[in-house]
Formats: sequence, C-alpha cells, structure tokens
Amino acid sequence: VEETYIMVKPDGVQRGLVGEIISRFEKKGFKLKALKLFQCPKELAEEHYKDLKAKSFYPKLIDYITSGPVVSMAWEGVGVVASARKLIGSTDPLQAEPGTIRGDLAVQTGRNVIHGSDSPDNGKREVGLWFKEDEIC
Ligand code: ATP
Ligand code: MG
Repeated sequence: VEETYIMVKPDGVQRGLVGEIISRFEKKGFKLKALKLFQCPKELAEEHYKDLKAKSFYPKLIDYITSGPVVSMAWEGVGVVASARKLIGSTDPLQAEPGTIRGDLAVQTGRNVIHGSDSPDNGKREVGLWFKEDEIC
C-alpha cells in the first residue's frame, strides 16, 4: 500500500496547528501508521532535503526545519501521496487555494507549516528515514 511522510514543521508546532492538521488527514480517511514529536538533528534535515542542496534557500531551509520540534507522521492509503499534496496546497502559501492547509494557515514559503512527500518512492524513502521499523504500526 502507498505511504507518505507528513511533517508539521517547527512553525506549525509552535503555532499550535498540530491538531488541526492531523484532523484534516483523519477526516479524509487515511490511516495513521506512525507519529512522533521530534527535534530534528541537522544531519537528518540535510539528508531529507538533499535534492535541494544547490538551491540558494537551502541553508535557511535547514535552519528552519531544525529551529524547534517537528511532528513526524506516516500515513497510508490508496493514492495518499498525491492526495496529501492536494490537501497541503502549493509550496507558496499565497498561491495555495483556500481550503488547503497552506492556503488556510500560512503566508510565507519559508514558513509553510507542513511537508508532504512528492512521490510514492520518496514516501517510502522518507518514512524509512524518519522512523525506525518498531515505530511504525
Ligand atoms: P515540502 O518538500 O516541504 O513538502 P514542497 O515540496 O512544496 O515542500 P520543495 O520545492 O520541495 O516544496 O521545497 C521544500 C521546502 O523548501 C518548501 O516547503 C519551503 O519550506 C522551502 N522553500 C522552497 N522554495 C523556497 C524559496 N524560494 N524560498 C524559501 N524557502 C523555500
Ligand atoms: Mg518537496
């Protein structure tokens, strides 16, 4: 079955948006497979975002993701990767449609409250990166 890695970023945790975000995935009907509050080490943030290493915003992105605890989740379901990206909305919250998480809850690309895997392969890779096997139900 398809799985995706969802992370409430430090701004989302600090602003108290964890419940709201989890609720949207629960109501949609996906299955929660793993969940933890976690201070991300720099090395893990770098591995997670390794494809963006050449981008000018990469150092700021690593600082952002490691600036406070994140809530890591694995969700499972048919088509969950693409569906989660739709629930999340565009990377730039000002471009994200109302009704999406970023469209409703954020304004800055550099503080866009949530991450979602961008392909089924990356979903598998990221769930494996962020969770030990015994943390997944
Ligand atoms: P994510 O991977 O976090 O789910 P995404 O897939 O919508 O977001 P990516 O292109 O993978 O977007 O970028 C990863 C993250 O890097 C973005 O969510 C955002 O926090 C940050 N980012 C992307 N572009 C910019 C930018 N131009 N300026 C600042 N931060 C950016
Ligand atoms: Mg991405």
